[in-house]
Amino acid sequence: MHISCSPFVRGGVWSGAIAAYIVSCGLAAPPSEQKTAASVEIVRDGKAVAYVIVRPDAHAMEKEAANDLRWAVGEATRVKLEQHDSIRPDDTRTAIEIVSFAPDAVALAEVAGRPDLPYDGAVVDVLNKKLVIRGQTPAGTANAVATILMDDIGVRMYYPHPLFTIVPKATGIRIAGRVCRPSFAYRRWSGLIGPEAAAYVRRNRLSDGRVPVPQWGFGHNLSSIISVAQHGKDHPEYFPLRDGKRLIRGSNAGDTPQPCFTNPDVLRLSIEAAREFFDQNPKKDTFSLCVNDNPWYCECPDCSAMDAPYRDIPVGRQYSESYFNYVSKVAEAVAQSHPGRHVGVYAYWNVEQPPRNRKTLPDNVIVALTQDILQHYDPAYRQKDRALLKSWGGYAKNLNTYVYYGLGWFTPRTSPRLAADDLRFGAANGVRAIYCEAYPFWAWSGPMHYVASRLQWDVNADVDRILDEFHRDCFGEVAAEMRTYHDTCEKYWTRARAGRWFEGLDNLAPEEAMADLGLLRAARRYLDAASAKAKEPEVRERIAWIKKGFDFSTAVARAFEAKKAPSDAAGRLMSAAELVNAAHAQLLAEPAYAHSYYKAGDRFNRKWQGWLDASLKKLRIAPKTGTPASTQPAGIVPPD
Ligand SMILES: [Zn+2]
Repeated sequence: MHISCSPFVRGGVWSGAIAAYIVSCGLAAPPSEQKTAASVEIVRDGKAVAYVIVRPDAHAMEKEAANDLRWAVGEATRVKLEQHDSIRPDDTRTAIEIVSFAPDAVALAEVAGRPDLPYDGAVVDVLNKKLVIRGQTPAGTANAVATILMDDIGVRMYYPHPLFTIVPKATGIRIAGRVCRPSFAYRRWSGLIGPEAAAYVRRNRLSDGRVPVPQWGFGHNLSSIISVAQHGKDHPEYFPLRDGKRLIRGSNAGDTPQPCFTNPDVLRLSIEAAREFFDQNPKKDTFSLCVNDNPWYCECPDCSAMDAPYRDIPVGRQYSESYFNYVSKVAEAVAQSHPGRHVGVYAYWNVEQPPRNRKTLPDNVIVALTQDILQHYDPAYRQKDRALLKSWGGYAKNLNTYVYYGLGWFTPRTSPRLAADDLRFGAANGVRAIYCEAYPFWAWSGPMHYVASRLQWDVNADVDRILDEFHRDCFGEVAAEMRTYHDTCEKYWTRARAGRWFEGLDNLAPEEAMADLGLLRAARRYLDAASAKAKEPEVRERIAWIKKGFDFSTAVARAFEAKKAPSDAAGRLMSAAELVNAAHAQLLAEPAYAHSYYKAGDRFNRKWQGWLDASLKKLRIAPKTGTPASTQPAGIVPPD
């Protein structure tokens, strides 16, 4: 029995699933360990009738899960559950054991008799005087406890801020037996920051990289395989031929051009790099062959013989034939030397389309198809994206998506419904796992991010119910006003226009071009109405937190408006700019907001100051139709 050798199954602890396995093998489980009721009481009439067991050497995620359970029970009932290292033989209370089968997916594969669940799934078994919460790995244990918090105790964490962590009061708590299995194999989010981000990830069952995520190995990587520093001088032929010249420059995956994919040495070096990676990282199962993050591909005679006639689609010229031919050859070599290992690739930008010169890719290629799914308000754009996803499904056994929720917009870019539609479509069409650039702007994206987290775990969850609950829990007496506020922000983003990939990324002009200031004013009115009507101090604080963010969006909209003023537009714009800067400073005091797009620095300045400078320049040289531009900033009339 391999399980008895596992350090994660100790002290004669057998779960119901294991008991079932043993019974099926003809061995009898100890009678006291048989599965019993469907749920067990842990707090009765304001008193603890259970205690928690966590081994002293438990994984950090198991310890956090135990702390979360004790914290939630304490918040709900004021009862403090005791925690011990091991079973107390004479204690008549129910022991809640928090354990895992294996520390990671690689070790899990060696555990015989494990339940048929993904690495972050879990089983919660109600036994006689014992409740066993056992994840496949600590990631599963964490998800099981988060599910108990959510479903049995009613805990919600709607935003990564203590104001939005909600625990209903109770005098009793029961925990139900259950099997926890996510809809998507991983749910990796980037762009969550601030002191509460880790708790938001944990309580909303997003993937935490502290237990290595199986079949996750992406990231722009070719520059580390064929680097300019190493090969630029002696081997110009490794680098792309463009306009008759080899493009040899750069030091990272952003600025290093793609290698020549038909060069035999590039292929050999790539195979060697993959093999060396797997030899040196026995716990890693995926090597990244993702392209560098730029459009500089090779057009030498051998490469262009594959890629031409070029497909010049709106996102850019496609080089999929030469690239995926190279990927397939590396993957085939890896399959021979390292069976069971994978290569990860992005279907992205200039290699977004499947290759025309192949019908499939080797089974060990994991494709992450990148899609700006918030453009799906445009039916034609959505149709194209979905056809592309279906087409990739025919090429790749292992298809994931890489989606963009946040792209650093200053005015609302949000839609819970588009995010949900995309997840449901993906699940129905074989998408195995999700990576998303979450990059939230909490003033208006909270419902979208929360709905996405719920559907990434359970793709059949009811979106309208989640949104009702979200607004009722957070905003109580003014739930209707806040729901209308969020709906108006969604309407702002989803109104009819042509979808454009990465529209508004690091560029404010497209936001200005699509702005509907009337709708933004309407959103502001709903927010103000909620603020004026709310009596509960906590609800008022929550609205004030949302408003801080929306002040920034409103200030930017005022700048758009000032620019269009019939007279003294430059002066008005400069005054509006002061309001934007003040609102931005206010935003920076909120750590959950200040990620890559909004923190003070070059990126923010390029977008905001770049737009402002260009706008002022244009206004000052434009022929004056009204009164001359004042040298003093004029006061701006606030939007009504
Ligand atoms: Zn080439």
